[in-house]
Amino acid sequence: MENSKEMRKWLDAMELPHPLVVAGPCSAETEEQVLKIAHQLKDTDVNYYRAGIWKPRTRPGNFEGVGAIGLKWLQKVKEETGLKTATEVANKAHVDLALEHDVDLLWIGARSTVSPFIMQELADALEGTDKIVLVKNPVNPDLALWLGGIERLHSAGIKKLGAIHRGFSTYQKTKYRNIPEWQLAIEFQNRFPDLPLINDPSHISGRRDLIFDVSQTALDLNFDGLMIETHWDPDNAWSDAKQQVTPDRLVQIMKDLKIRKESDPEAEYNNKLNNLRAQIDVLDNQLIELLGDRMKVSDGIGELKKQRNVAVLQSNRWNEILGKMILEGEEKGLSEEFVLRMFKAIHQESINHQEKIINA
Ligand code: PEP
Ligand code: MN
Repeated sequence: MENSKEMRKWLDAMELPHPLVVAGPCSAETEEQVLKIAHQLKDTDVNYYRAGIWKPRTRPGNFEGVGAIGLKWLQKVKEETGLKTATEVANKAHVDLALEHDVDLLWIGARSTVSPFIMQELADALEGTDKIVLVKNPVNPDLALWLGGIERLHSAGIKKLGAIHRGFSTYQKTKYRNIPEWQLAIEFQNRFPDLPLINDPSHISGRRDLIFDVSQTALDLNFDGLMIETHWDPDNAWSDAKQQVTPDRLVQIMKDLKIRKESDPEAEYNNKLNNLRAQIDVLDNQLIELLGDRMKVSDGIGELKKQRNVAVLQSNRWNEILGKMILEGEEKGLSEEFVLRMFKAIHQESINHQEKIINA
């Protein structure tokens, strides 16, 4: 599958003055709830009204969605507010029902993208549809799996395709519910620069106070849209209560976000600069994380040396590391002098850490 301008035709045809916005509750709960939120979002920047009908829950016993009855509520949303509708589909039965009820945008959840069997079933069920189909990244940071899902849908003749970046799960505890791994989203964009890419700050953040910053980073990285979970009473939502925002808050977020204008030459320069700076910020954060991890390993070595009463400085080992890094650095276009200086600083920090441990 080749990148082509055709990929973004459906989005360009909408001629939106702002990024594409998909908003609405994590789950449809009751008819009143679905309609109430839709009316609150009616005269805002929202383009598609989302509500999960079938909810993939990690553990059984949680609310698993209202099922097909919710599709009737979404039809009512369209009749009463004119908003287009969106829901998640995870098997052929879901697809058939959603198409029957004229849902305008179908997204495939992170737990489905991980399974090539499910993706093929969905591609077959969706074959030739003129609805918009967006594929969330798989829960694990595997670019090939994400691309593979898109390719299956593309082969099934689906023209209005796009992707949603919703972060990745890790064993590590971080401030995010699903770490963004922006580098992976950037790689995805490099592979298909014309495929519309939407960010889902709600599932990345897992808490509503991070949603603005994640959204801004996404826009600085040239994302085409945002999917933001919105509920009239977030704290009492039946699923994902901590990450949902009120319609008022959503409107404020959209107002405060710095949105790129591609047409203005001066803006284009700034957009490019912001994009590159956002990439640098992502990489710098990774550098700090990596250095922190390296020090933790070095602390472990300190503990071992302490038990055996071995000296902190092991010159042979150190010279070996340096020699190897200078060669690898050269391959990446880094000067010997820089690699030496950098590793001396890292080594010194390691020694300081180990000294502290040994003398504790
Ligand atoms: C959702 O959008 O409510 C959802 C279940 O998302 P994800 O597949 O990203 O977990
Ligand atoms: Mn959710």
